[in-house]
Amino acid sequence: MRIRFWGTRGSLAKPGPSTVRYGGNTSCVEVRAADGTLIILDCGTGAHDLGRSLVASGERPIRGNFLLTHTHWDHIQGFPFFAPLFIKGNEWDVYAPQGLGQRLEDTLAGQMEYEYFPVTLGQLGATIRYHELTEGTFDLGAVQVTTRYLNHPGLALGYRLEAGDVAVVYVTDHEPHSRHQHEAADRAQRLPVHREDQRHVEFLAGADLLIHDAQYTLEEYPSKLTWGHSPAELAVDFALAAGVKRLALFHHDPLRDDAALDQLVENCRQRAVAGGLDVFAAAEGQAIELAEREAVAPRASMQSKAAITKGVGAPSATILLVDDDPDIVRLLTMTLQPEGFRLLSASDGNAALEIACAERPDLLLLDWNMPGRDGLEVCRALRAESDPELCNVPVVLLTAQAGAEDTAAGFAAGVTDYVTKPFSPAHIRARVHAWLRRKHAGAEGT
Ligand SMILES: [Zn+2]
Ligand SMILES: [Zn+2]
Repeated sequence: MRIRFWGTRGSLAKPGPSTVRYGGNTSCVEVRAADGTLIILDCGTGAHDLGRSLVASGERPIRGNFLLTHTHWDHIQGFPFFAPLFIKGNEWDVYAPQGLGQRLEDTLAGQMEYEYFPVTLGQLGATIRYHELTEGTFDLGAVQVTTRYLNHPGLALGYRLEAGDVAVVYVTDHEPHSRHQHEAADRAQRLPVHREDQRHVEFLAGADLLIHDAQYTLEEYPSKLTWGHSPAELAVDFALAAGVKRLALFHHDPLRDDAALDQLVENCRQRAVAGGLDVFAAAEGQAIELAEREAVAPRASMQSKAAITKGVGAPSATILLVDDDPDIVRLLTMTLQPEGFRLLSASDGNAALEIACAERPDLLLLDWNMPGRDGLEVCRALRAESDPELCNVPVVLLTAQAGAEDTAAGFAAGVTDYVTKPFSPAHIRARVHAWLRRKHAGAEGT
């Protein structure tokens, strides 16, 4: 497998003398498998030069696959400038997370409307097929692709690519779920307590190359909470916990110049020193070759279900909002109402249980500290119900208690997810959609 970085910058293209070594173009990574399968991870401004190089290679027709983590600007702005899309006879498959009510094709067409761009999506000469994804696994040539929802204020997917015995994982635009894990002095105590961080580590497990969001430093992170990105030092912790061989820091902050990035790499190497992990910052133009040998053991597949969805838009759902703070209920209502969900609310634990039993919601957003039964007691009571709809309902706990012990207590009580206040509306919106889609996929699979 050959990996080449065409864009490594996050959020905004940042060309100029201060970023010339690591590059100024936004996310775009080319992966070419030994069988010739071409996969392009994200289509930021780095895709411009990649497209030109593919056309110059003389290969005709040019066939390839885009795997988009999400459709924030810095991940799709190269699309209208990608030369192979303009050439008749070329064939492209575009994969991205199923959106929140709009088809992928319409989202990509949006940035090419007359007000923004002179050529419409429909005028592109190549044959382009669009595929919307949830979590699961599918094959592209010899490459097995596994997808997993990330923690970002937009519904985003990470990709694990496996061919032969090689595994490359691409996880950008992701924030750790737990906020205080890293404060433990001892590395062993930095192992994740939050179940979603543990699943993140499983997703990265044993990767030969991990390309991970590393937008911030630990020092900057407190002022960037809920923005949906990782401090580089925590990318190191996750890579160490997952037994990753090489870590490419990625999605560099537009304010991080080359010298500051050198320093960040140095700090991360210090942190990784005892773990046998090779850490570097991904640089535009850099290529990495990983020899694909035949796998001796069957691949560790997270899920066997196909990730490609049929149908469009969000599943219809009933959501129960439980919080004794009316401002939180109002904020959640304002966030989720426009999505077309049916919303119910309760301001104490006893009322929450009554409504849950009567209405069988698809998801609960549940406060911890409330009058009457607290959130953990409500969750334990639901898990003890014999009705599978109630005992398996996803419960997202919303709480200001962010410590590792609190988090462990939450999961021990049976919560599905643990979200620390303050949260951003966009963040909650993405979490709600991720859990509903997982529930929907689980119901379809049974
Ligand atoms: Zn981004
Ligand atoms: Zn993003």
